[in-house]
Amino acid sequence: LNRDPMNLSAAEKEFENAIRPAEINDFSGQPQLIENLVIFIKAAKLRGEALDHILFHGPPGLGKTTLSRIVANELGVNIKETSGPVIEKPGDLAGLLTNLQPNDVLFIDEIHRLSTVVEEYLYAAMEDFRIDIMIDSGPNARSVQINLNPFTLVGATTRSGLLTAPLLSRFGIKSRLEYYQAETLQKIIERSAAILNTAIKTDAAFEIARRSRGTPRIANGLLRRVRDFAQVLNDGTIDLGITQHALKALNVDEHGLDEMDNRILLAIIDKFKGGPVGLTTIATAVGEEAGTLEEVYEPFLIQEGFLQRTPRGREVTAKAYLHTNRTQIRDGRQ
Ligand code: ADP
Repeated sequence: LNRDPMNLSAAEKEFENAIRPAEINDFSGQPQLIENLVIFIKAAKLRGEALDHILFHGPPGLGKTTLSRIVANELGVNIKETSGPVIEKPGDLAGLLTNLQPNDVLFIDEIHRLSTVVEEYLYAAMEDFRIDIMIDSGPNARSVQINLNPFTLVGATTRSGLLTAPLLSRFGIKSRLEYYQAETLQKIIERSAAILNTAIKTDAAFEIARRSRGTPRIANGLLRRVRDFAQVLNDGTIDLGITQHALKALNVDEHGLDEMDNRILLAIIDKFKGGPVGLTTIATAVGEEAGTLEEVYEPFLIQEGFLQRTPRGREVTAKAYLHTNRTQIRDGRQ
């Protein structure tokens, strides 16, 4: 299953948009974050001001884009959406910013991928709602200051560790999205199924939920596939039997771990005797960037008790041995 938003097919994107909650009341989970957001939105509306700039950070598929749209919706303003790599030149950014109406939201996904020049232009825009642009080149070059309407920048990133201190400091609100509990994912799945006009049994929804890696995008993606099985092999109703059959056919891991999760655990067990081993060594072994391992994969493995951080590096747990069907060899340690 695909969980990289950059690699979603058109059909998958359309599906996501169809079931994406548009209002804050339809957004489940992240209670602390939502509670604060509601206050900040109310306060900004009372004052008639633009909401402070917000940074949403956390692993893919947890609802950063969804929340950004909800924020704009609740503020009653327009949202313009773009992403870090798309804004190539300061001129592209100027074009976006000068088109914003007062208090609008500018959403920049993958904000860690902004180029340094563009990022530096963003500082003045965020702080003083103005930009300086260069007109002409050579001896005629001069800079012109343009005042902008007040706006809210909502940035999203899976890699907050890559953001520079000056950019980070310009976000008044920084919120980390956490993995969802199975009970919350179950509610999300039931809501999505209702929108898709698909009947689903409670135990079936829970089974999909607990195997979705704590991630709404994965939960909805699995629901979509299980629904196919239910329609072809059943009367369309998703029950526990059909769910278990489908998840097995789809090779979905018992704990919802994905291929990279399993590769990480196996590398530590098979190549490094279960650890402790350093992050960069693991990264080389699985062919992934150390930062991505640390911010995107590791948090889930740690939360679910497969991996632990020790002063000497990462170490797998007994649960990881069980899960990967490996025998734990203890070298004199208990
Ligand atoms: P991100 O931007 O963090 O990668 P998205 O906001 O695109 O994630 O969410 C991915 C999918 O999961 C969307 O289809 C969205 O509808 C769904 N989703 C995410 N969070 C929630 C939530 N809290 N409640 C309901 N659906 C959610």
